[in-house]
Amino acid sequence: MLDKVVIANRGEIALRVLRACHTLGIKTVAVHSTADRNLKHVGMADESVCIGPPPAAESYLNVPAIIAAAEVTDAQAIHPGYGFLSENADFAERVEKSGFIFIGPTADVIRLMGDKVEAIRAMKAAGVPCVPGSGGPLGEDMVANTKIAREIGYPVIIKAAGGGGGRGMRVVHTEAHLSNAIQMTKSEAKAAFGNGEVYMEKFLENPRHVEIQVLADGQGNAIHLGERDCSMQRRHQKVVEEAPAPGISAEQRAEIGKVCVEACLRIGYRGAGTFEFLYENGRFYFIEMNTRIQVEHPVTELITGVDLVREQLLIAAGEKLSIRQEDVVLNGHAIECRVNAEDPDTFMPSPGTVKRFEAPGGPGVRVDTHVYDGYRIPPNYDSMIGKLIVHGRDRATAIARMRIALSEMVVEGIKTNVPLQQRIMADGGFQAGGQNIHYLERRIAEAKEKAIGIG
Ligand code: ADP
Repeated sequence: MLDKVVIANRGEIALRVLRACHTLGIKTVAVHSTADRNLKHVGMADESVCIGPPPAAESYLNVPAIIAAAEVTDAQAIHPGYGFLSENADFAERVEKSGFIFIGPTADVIRLMGDKVEAIRAMKAAGVPCVPGSGGPLGEDMVANTKIAREIGYPVIIKAAGGGGGRGMRVVHTEAHLSNAIQMTKSEAKAAFGNGEVYMEKFLENPRHVEIQVLADGQGNAIHLGERDCSMQRRHQKVVEEAPAPGISAEQRAEIGKVCVEACLRIGYRGAGTFEFLYENGRFYFIEMNTRIQVEHPVTELITGVDLVREQLLIAAGEKLSIRQEDVVLNGHAIECRVNAEDPDTFMPSPGTVKRFEAPGGPGVRVDTHVYDGYRIPPNYDSMIGKLIVHGRDRATAIARMRIALSEMVVEGIKTNVPLQQRIMADGGFQAGGQNIHYLERRIAEAKEKAIGIG
């Protein structure tokens, strides 16, 4: 077993990792910026090291400082959480070269999945269904590009190979706009990601976002833990997630899950990972793989009973997967609401001091947050301050529990998106289930017009 782990992250996920470590008897090292001395997990960790000033570039992305922290504390492994350095192949490589265990896949696999053109190529070869597309980077030859677009059929989407966070994409509806769109996406991608390579896909007009959670030990064993539906999005950012996805049959789940498991074995995947798909007219289309733990992992934990972060730690310690596919049994329904420090109407961030915080409770209610009475939210980082997750025997029960939990939640001193989450839970379309990725934005826009209802 591991003896001591550095947690190279902050906020709720750092606390989540700390809890999993301590449950396994593993000691923890919290690394934090000067703005984060008062983070909950910093006080709970066995040791803590300040790694730099508030800007993430100088602290949570400061590779030498994080590796030095592992050295001075004599830790064995580094857990990157999500965001920050979690999908940075160079970081994973530096960690391993410095003699520590990177809690995640190998640097080569992270690098492969980080280049979307290469990732799609590898997934196609592994039999994973992908969106019809160019199958490789677009060249300068516009005659060839026009031919590809005609074959795919408009509308198409031009995407950056190195893109992420919902940026570096452009939808093209007619041939007249194709050349310009390719050039603009290329130059934006070069500026934003240092990689001007772009590719083309069919633009699916009304898909849902459905993703498959996997675990692999890198020793020939892999399983899937069913799917999550993350279609409630605003600006390509997930707002509500749930598991299982409404309307997905056991046969569909088993089929797509098996495809993901086989792909994991083929690429030598290790750790927890997620295959993201767009789902339209009963079919799955791979868009990308996330090679880390995700924000929404708790909904899977609640319906499977598997502690995914614990499994990450065991895999990193070199253990073989102890859960077999037939051990994964889905039980009931889980929903997660992301709680953001932001204005629920304008979406402007709302950092500041939390004057009073009261978490909801009761059967099937889980609160993953680092917030406490008097905690000061620094303006330097993401606005997500926690997650409210509920579990019930069916979807209706889960929604009912979420509505009560949201009403019990007290966060004073700052603005949060809890009122928006309450409107989503009360919305007839959400309650019906199975809405597409445009639904939430459309409802927010409609409500703005009427100045009532969901937004
Ligand atoms: P990122 O890494 O930036 O998140 P993704 O490839 O995961 O990029 O795409 C992000 C979002 O963009 C998807 O969830 C979806 O809303 C939209 N999108 C991407 N590709 C397509 C497509 N082919 N058709 C329709 N929407 C798409």
